[in-house]
Amino acid sequence: MRITFFSARKYEKPFFDSACAGKGFDCNYVEVHLNQESVLLASGSDVVCLFVNDTCNREIIEQLSEMGVKLIALRSAGFNHVDLKAAAEHNIPVVRVPAYSPYSVAEHTIAIIMTLNRKTHRAYNRVKEGNFSLNGLMGFDLHCKTAGLIGLGKIGKATAKILLGFGCKVLGYDKYEDEECKKLGVEYTSIDRIFSESDIVSLHCPLTPDTHHIINKDTIEKMKDGVMLINTSRGALVDTKAVIEALKTSKIGHLGLDVYEEEGDLFFEDLSDQIITDDVFMRLLTFPNVLITGHQAFFTNNAMRNIADITIGNIVDFREKKELENAVVLE
Ligand code: NAD
Repeated sequence: MRITFFSARKYEKPFFDSACAGKGFDCNYVEVHLNQESVLLASGSDVVCLFVNDTCNREIIEQLSEMGVKLIALRSAGFNHVDLKAAAEHNIPVVRVPAYSPYSVAEHTIAIIMTLNRKTHRAYNRVKEGNFSLNGLMGFDLHCKTAGLIGLGKIGKATAKILLGFGCKVLGYDKYEDEECKKLGVEYTSIDRIFSESDIVSLHCPLTPDTHHIINKDTIEKMKDGVMLINTSRGALVDTKAVIEALKTSKIGHLGLDVYEEEGDLFFEDLSDQIITDDVFMRLLTFPNVLITGHQAFFTNNAMRNIADITIGNIVDFREKKELENAVVLE
């Protein structure tokens, strides 16, 4: 069985080689994203293995089906980039990795909050240059601050636990209430109260038609002045242009992003010797109170091992015609 891994990076290969050892797969790693130009690279493959910035729309699924691809194996939790209806119509199951390490993303969320707050990134550079001035480095105690989490699934819950450990009051908004979260001390409330009372708003819900631009001009208006906004979930949860306006007026006091609406053309690539033409993204980089990481929240060795093992496990289940417990079901 041949598997073509699109968007394959050299740091992934050892984990997948190890997960595939002895299983008889023919692994074809290609660096390019799956898109209209690269889809032919899947010819002869039974399985395509995709990451978050691969394009998997109806047109591409039709071509994959014609080439004889029988399974789309996502090595991610999110599946918003796949046309599930088209896949179902072509009888191509889609499997994913629903959980690989919620701690990886939760801990990175906290790293962004702590860095923005205590400005360790700026302090590091200053001290290296012999500048020990504290001007502009003042932060705030997290203790007793209110953090509002939108989405309290695996990652939201892991984030809540850490914030509760800091002594934060944690408000939560989710479509469903989780008893364990309540026992931990999360107070479920309305989304409007999240916006009006939170010092930190952090997004941990999936990207769906309901949540697209959940952070927009109107919802930002409802937030506290100087709020810290964190998005480690999916870029299009946030209307970036509205956020830029709010940064200009200091309505948003700190912004931390690991994801960006138009990240497909930027993230996971070394563009350091190229001209970046995305003016919205470049404007974000000009603010001293904005911290952006390039979709690395998941990136721990624990998570990578789990992603590889679960992805290959999903493919083995498919080959052995077992029930696909990690199939993405079309709602
Ligand atoms: P999960 O499915 O365990 O939790 C998602 C939660 O969001 C659920 O409790 C669900 O009820 C809730 N939800 C759904 N729609 C909602 C809505 N309209 N309003 C409020 N809540 C809603 O998922 P997870 O493992 O916690 O992952 C959360 C998200 O994190 C993923 O969808 C993915 O986009 C993102 N993620 C990012 C990275 C990264 O590296 N930055 C890595 C993994 C996942």
